[in-house]
Amino acid sequence: MKSQTVASNVEFKHKQLEDIQLYINGEFVDAESGATFENINPFTNTVINHIAEGRKEDMNKAIAAAKEAFENGPWSKMKLKERVKYIYKIADLIDEANDEIAFLESLDTGLPISQTRNQAARAAENFRFYAKMVETKHNELFPVDDEFINYTLYKPLGVVGLITPWNAPFMLETWKVAPALATGNTVILKPAELSPLTANKLAEIIDKAGLPKGVFNVVHGFGETAGAALVAHPDVKGVSFTGETTTGSIIIKNAADTLKKTSMELGGKSPLIVFEDADLDRALDAAIWGIFSFNGERCTSNSRVFLHKNIKDKFVAALKERVQKIKIGDPMDSSTQLGPLIEKGHFNKVKGYIDLAKEEGCEVVQGTVPEEFKAGNFVPPTLLLNAKNEMRVCQEEIFGPVMAVIEFEDEEEVIKAANDVRYGLAGFVWTNDIKRAHRVADQIEAGMIWINAQNVRDLRIPFGGMKDSGLGREGGHYAFEFYTEPKVIHVAIGDHHIPQFGK
Ligand code: NAD
Repeated sequence: MKSQTVASNVEFKHKQLEDIQLYINGEFVDAESGATFENINPFTNTVINHIAEGRKEDMNKAIAAAKEAFENGPWSKMKLKERVKYIYKIADLIDEANDEIAFLESLDTGLPISQTRNQAARAAENFRFYAKMVETKHNELFPVDDEFINYTLYKPLGVVGLITPWNAPFMLETWKVAPALATGNTVILKPAELSPLTANKLAEIIDKAGLPKGVFNVVHGFGETAGAALVAHPDVKGVSFTGETTTGSIIIKNAADTLKKTSMELGGKSPLIVFEDADLDRALDAAIWGIFSFNGERCTSNSRVFLHKNIKDKFVAALKERVQKIKIGDPMDSSTQLGPLIEKGHFNKVKGYIDLAKEEGCEVVQGTVPEEFKAGNFVPPTLLLNAKNEMRVCQEEIFGPVMAVIEFEDEEEVIKAANDVRYGLAGFVWTNDIKRAHRVADQIEAGMIWINAQNVRDLRIPFGGMKDSGLGREGGHYAFEFYTEPKVIHVAIGDHHIPQFGK
């Protein structure tokens, strides 16, 4: 089967993308039903290619393969040194394919290629980081007087299901696949149906790395069918999910019957607070980057910006000037800063929120989409001025290039407003008063706070949210702990007392 259209202006433009199959038990295969769905380019709204639509029967096949690989294959019994060689190999192959991965990701999602290149590089680092972690992780030892030595072993869960979103597909997939494989699990990846290209590339890379068959499987398809079948299956021991809060809640309910371990990375509506003593130029750069990079489709974006009343006018004037200059364009152009949104439905949702902002009383200021790009799902960089925190546009996740600007007068008021939202993923505090910086950071209800910085990530930190933004943490040793079961071995080293019932 051949694809119909590929529009691109980079070195891969000669390539007609082939249709994509499922990757099950080390083979690329069609769905049992033969069904496929269209994959649409968000820049042109034309068909890129067709994707095999996995359903329950395909998921069952993949889970059986992963179970067989875990229980009877070499993977989980392999010497650690050998297993990590595969993980490093995957990292190297990702680096070698950086240009192609970035191209596929930008084609599929509309994310600017300068950003997808960085994401692909980060993906390789995810594998290296977790290879190193399993090599160096210490187990614990608990000596108990002269009677016992207790020690821990960390065992892989078995078959794990990884369900991922479309907003940073490749990076988020590898963020889960790397620790899951490094710790010895076997994996079923169910990527988002809107961004299948780089998940398929990951399958090709892992196939090339030569992992034993069944260790890694990719089942494309829709959430309500393929995703739900993965969550409900009794042989799947853990589900790591990144996506919307409402989907996370459904998955937790569906996982309850089979008592699965779950990890939930969910939505956000994060505050960025600028006090009057802040370095305003740096705060401005960070606030703009934080909402307009990734086309605004970033879980930790600063979608609510709180400005102290004494600096508000100056800051807003600078924001207005900058949104006009953000470069909107072809995702394949290295100078593009803002590309099209993932799909028409999401484009309509974001536009709907901008209309709602007007109804709710905001002044809306936007950049301009050049006429030549009108076929794409472009929403220009948008400011919602004079917003109030209780408005729906400040309470609900818009997930587009839309920044609500809210004025505040004092610290207590802004902390209260920042926390008056169902989400608690991230927060950003801008001030040069060191005491206030820590005081405010401590009081904001969010899993991750940055002081005088944009979202800069360190792979060792606990990544995740409070409130409706998530349950559990990934990253660093937190992911290691999710993908393993600690087992304790108690060893008697003396003749301790044993009760002698019935003697
Ligand atoms: P989504 O919840 O619609 O879909 C995510 C994945 O879940 C997809 O693969 C989808 O097919 C699958 N799915 C849907 N219904 C399912 C079901 N009933 N059972 C099993 N799987 C199901 O999310 P999205 O629109 O792809 O992604 C955007 C959302 O992700 C935003 O809310 C964003 O904030 C969030 N996100 C969070 C983080 C984080 O780390 N907290 C990171 C990135 C994105």
